[in-house]
Amino acid sequence: MLDFVQLEADLDQEERMIRDTAREFVDEHVRPDIGDHFEEGTFPTELIPKMGELGFYAPNLEGYGSPNVSETAYGLLMQELEACDSGLRSMASVQGALVMYPIHAYGSEEQKEEWLPKLGQGEAVGCFGLTEPEHGSNPSGMETYATEDGDGYVLNGSKTWITNSPIADVAVVWARDRSADEEPVRGFLVETDRDGVTTNKITEKLSLRASITGEIGLNDVSVPEENVLPGVSGMKGPLSCLTQARYGIAWGAVGAARDAFEEARQYAQDREQFGGPIGRFQLQQGKLAEMATQITLAQLLAYRLAELKERGDMQPQHVSMAKRNNVRMARDQSRVAREMLGGNGITTDYSPMRHMANMETVYTYEGTHDIHTLVLGEELTGIPAYQ
Ligand code: FAD
Repeated sequence: MLDFVQLEADLDQEERMIRDTAREFVDEHVRPDIGDHFEEGTFPTELIPKMGELGFYAPNLEGYGSPNVSETAYGLLMQELEACDSGLRSMASVQGALVMYPIHAYGSEEQKEEWLPKLGQGEAVGCFGLTEPEHGSNPSGMETYATEDGDGYVLNGSKTWITNSPIADVAVVWARDRSADEEPVRGFLVETDRDGVTTNKITEKLSLRASITGEIGLNDVSVPEENVLPGVSGMKGPLSCLTQARYGIAWGAVGAARDAFEEARQYAQDREQFGGPIGRFQLQQGKLAEMATQITLAQLLAYRLAELKERGDMQPQHVSMAKRNNVRMARDQSRVAREMLGGNGITTDYSPMRHMANMETVYTYEGTHDIHTLVLGEELTGIPAYQ
């Protein structure tokens, strides 16, 4: 497995154990069927509790059943899951960073006790409803709103492109609170079996096919006051969750690229043309050399991000740079790997084209490549260029 500058040597025992557990899990339970899931547009939902049992959902949180592992261990976990498929890593990212994290950071004691153990064990599935049909890159324009009604709120609006919404038990829905001055954005825990909630599946995807994506319709949905996340108000709520998830993506994308690289490296040794393996041609070696270099650079950025996060110095702009760079790298390099596999490379028998297709989603969600460019532009010049 590619580890060109011996990063493995610095891992502690727990980090190795978590990485190996994830690697063995995907090899045994997911890899054999992942091509079929991708073709059929399905997710292996029967593995959701098993992933919980193995500690794949937010193990970097502390308490309520979460072991508080190092940020490097968490990153390695995301890397191994995405080395199998971005759909698998998306499952863990949404459940951990986008659902458990906001409950952990902003929830009441009752909300934490009710949801965190269940979500951590994969006994319940969560989803994160921020994006709307008319508001993607600019979520602060959201139109979903909550109005106070007796002891609770009534929610109206629609969310789209929501990972796992059709199979979720609970949605973290971000909505404007119309009862408060300036209508701040607040987080609501919405059980999906409440009257007025619909979660239609989006089926026409050509990317991230081994992941369930849907909408959330909210039509006069009543939720009690105790379902509001009390600890946060404003866009800081959803944006801070996205920072957590993007951290995992920066690591995960390296896994996808590494897997595509390994497939290409093997193929270059096995496939013979003109009387010998294609790996003896300088053109093919040049591709492998460039891929290995780009993967290694992205890996180094991910490891540095883990150090910053561990000591509390990681800023959103650091995450923007890593998400932006590492996903672009994985998108580019999985295409090169695909190309090295010739005609076989366009099938689901090999991983590179699946990773390449997945990367179109990963490049787009959690802040598009363009939006992260603007975040960096603002950081470097002090001038925001969003509008
Ligand atoms: P738009 O914002 O309409 O962007 C269209 C294009 O315009 C993009 O290229 C963009 O970069 C560009 N653009 C926009 N603004 C600017 C600007 N100021 N300057 C320059 N260029 C600009 N959302 C959730 O809330 N929860 C989820 O679980 C979730 N899962 C997803 C799963 C999948 C498979 C996909 C595809 C998306 C998911 N999303 C989710 C939504 C995702 O975050 C949005 O698609 C993303 O934020 C982009 O929004 P948009 O699709 O509306 O594109």
